[in-house]
Amino acid sequence: MPPPVLPPVLPYGRQTIEDDDIAAVAEALKADFLTTGPAVEAFEVAFAEAVGARHAVACSNGTAALHLAMLALDVQPGEVVIAPSITFLATANCARYVGAEVVFADVDPDSGLMTPETLADALRRVGGRRLRAVLPVHLRGDVADLPGLSALAAGAGAVLVEDAPHALGTTMTYGNVAERAGDARHSAMATFSFHPVKTIATGEGGMVTTNDASLAERLKVMRSHGMVRPPGADPWWYEMAEPGFNYRLPDILCALGLSQLRKLSRFAARRRALAKAYEAALAPLAPVVRMAARPPWSDPVLHLMCVLIDFEAAGITRRQVVERLRERGVGTQVHYIPVHRQSYYAQRYGRLDLPGAQAWYDRCLSLPLYPGMADEDVGRVVEALRAVLGG
Ligand SMILES: *Cc1c(COP(=O)(O)O)cnc(C)c1O
Repeated sequence: MPPPVLPPVLPYGRQTIEDDDIAAVAEALKADFLTTGPAVEAFEVAFAEAVGARHAVACSNGTAALHLAMLALDVQPGEVVIAPSITFLATANCARYVGAEVVFADVDPDSGLMTPETLADALRRVGGRRLRAVLPVHLRGDVADLPGLSALAAGAGAVLVEDAPHALGTTMTYGNVAERAGDARHSAMATFSFHPVKTIATGEGGMVTTNDASLAERLKVMRSHGMVRPPGADPWWYEMAEPGFNYRLPDILCALGLSQLRKLSRFAARRRALAKAYEAALAPLAPVVRMAARPPWSDPVLHLMCVLIDFEAAGITRRQVVERLRERGVGTQVHYIPVHRQSYYAQRYGRLDLPGAQAWYDRCLSLPLYPGMADEDVGRVVEALRAVLGG
């Protein structure tokens, strides 16, 4: 018997590349510089303007952006960095790259975000060690309570570094001040990724934003081997006080990033419209299926459509839901497995109970969300979910 013909699967996220993006890359390939050329600064300037920060430094990917942030702060071996457990591995790993130790913060079980309460608990676990940085993650695209977190971090002698790849385009209002995610008003730096599922894509790519000129300079130096050219030095001369990395983003990808960035408001509007359609379509599935909780200050451009499902009440496992949705042409993903439970961290730091992270992980599932989805796709996804859950 021939295998059953399955419908094409909607992925949980994907890039939107259009003809003008392709033309921009083709132009970049004909230019004099494939890397370290003028497209890099053009992308950086446009990105800084888009998020409302003074400086932006492009780099090879979001993980490199986090590593560069640790290097720019000169985080030392044995010092402590706090990261939430519900995030991608890289948020915690960047601390280990510089020899620092990670203290994992719990998250709010319904929003998945680090909160002042979960940060206060993590601060108590720092002990007598020197805390250097706290890395809130704007999970899904909703921003954390940055004023609350930064006040606590400052009280402990540390700064915030926002891991912001999910939140490009998000706006927020703390008190009555309108802000943009990545403007780094409450943090030393914010980091972004242009991985294909993120809001703009360059294949691989990353950015660090900051309002501090000396941090921006250090990021640039460490992005390119730690090389500096002192003013007035011989034309061939460079000096290296400290070994850096090759974390440059080539002009080819910066040209693509610039082209993608011009579409940010259109991509953001589309993501917002799809999220709204999901919210309406999912309402009848409550209380078994609920949207992730939205903090009141946040007006997100969602990167992920995370829903929280009470699998026990539905009498079905998450694995069954994932497999049956896939048979119906709906791809999903889990964001994220708590990082503190990875064997590397469990061995290094021992067993740690973070009930909020566990409760989030037990229920979360990311449904398809990307600008190229058709309006009907939302209905199709929710109908498949309803059928699979037996509602
Ligand atoms: C995507 C992502 C990263 C890593 O970015 P890469 O470009 O894949 O290296 C780090 N943190 C978060 C929260 C991310 O979503």
